[in-house]
Amino acid sequence: MDAAATPISPRPATADAAVELISLTKRYASAAPAVDAINLRIRSGSYCCLLGPSGCGKSTTLRMIAGHESVTTGDVLLEGRNITRLPAAARGTAMMFQSFALFPHLSALDNVAFSLKMKGMGRTERQRQAAELLERVAMGHLAQRKPGELSGGQQQRVALARALITQPRVLLLDEPLSALDPFLRIQMRAELRRWQKELGLTFVHVTHSQEEAMALADTMVVMNHGVIEQVGSPHEIYNAPATEFIARFMGGHNVIDTGAGKIAVRNDHMLIAPADPTAPAEGTAGGMGATITDVEYQGTYVLLGLDARSATGPTGVSVMLPEARFAERPYTLGEDVHLSWHAAHALRA
Ligand code: ADP
Ligand code: MG
Repeated sequence: MDAAATPISPRPATADAAVELISLTKRYASAAPAVDAINLRIRSGSYCCLLGPSGCGKSTTLRMIAGHESVTTGDVLLEGRNITRLPAAARGTAMMFQSFALFPHLSALDNVAFSLKMKGMGRTERQRQAAELLERVAMGHLAQRKPGELSGGQQQRVALARALITQPRVLLLDEPLSALDPFLRIQMRAELRRWQKELGLTFVHVTHSQEEAMALADTMVVMNHGVIEQVGSPHEIYNAPATEFIARFMGGHNVIDTGAGKIAVRNDHMLIAPADPTAPAEGTAGGMGATITDVEYQGTYVLLGLDARSATGPTGVSVMLPEARFAERPYTLGEDVHLSWHAAHALRA
């Protein structure tokens, strides 16, 4: 690598990082930065999901990588090359938008060839390249159809081919599935995942859906208020949320104040028993009393809602019980119970 190519990088970039963000900051007019000095390395060939609630800075981060948004301070490196000040088209990134944003009046072939036309490439050559890419995503036979004559899955493949025609090193996707109906969304995300692996390309995918990120990502980057709260595999983030925010945001966890600090316990790790006067005092590490407020059948599981009496007052808690366990001892609305957990399942939040 030519060191002169990255003059403002405070440390050498690593070869296995497709994208590296160094103290990257974006300030709009308002006082709080939208993205606040984030550092991140995205491994080459990985599927990376930026996850977080609306307004946490995901799209701003993605747009700074794409070159659609100026950087206030910090750097964006692509394969070790500092691209912070390069125009979007010169970066080696490509973007895939919500609902694929295909031109409805153009054929699949012309949609894919569009950016080459903008670059001034002649018709024969651009159509040859577009046809080749459509073949690659198994859409060659439908090249003359317009988007309205294609299924959702076929449209997604055209959008993918259109993004790939510029031979990007990194594909950036901003909530590409969020406008689709739930059934199509699950189908499409399986396809995205398959294509990413098949192409061996680095994908950076923005979503506010925990479920989507868990299904897709090799690496999840959880953001909140313009900063990164945790980076890890879906398994790591779900099983060992680093902060109370993540435990709550990922769902499936109860955040409980024991009196000696807050802990997070997965709702399928909660132990529930009928109220017992000989049980340890409420609010201690041994557990706490609670009242059943909701019983919801979810097929193989029953989800119980409870009002728990924690050290600091009433706390909403959920417990996921296998259906067979619930059948052995059904709990009823308004019933008093005792909740506890194994120490190994209580994460410090
Ligand atoms: P996300 O994609 O996570 O929902 P965004 O990156 O779009 O969040 O926005 C982060 C913050 O920056 C929000 O507070 C948003 O209101 C603000 N913001 C985004 N774009 C602009 C803009 N063009 N001008 C001013 N503020 C913006
Ligand atoms: Mg957004």
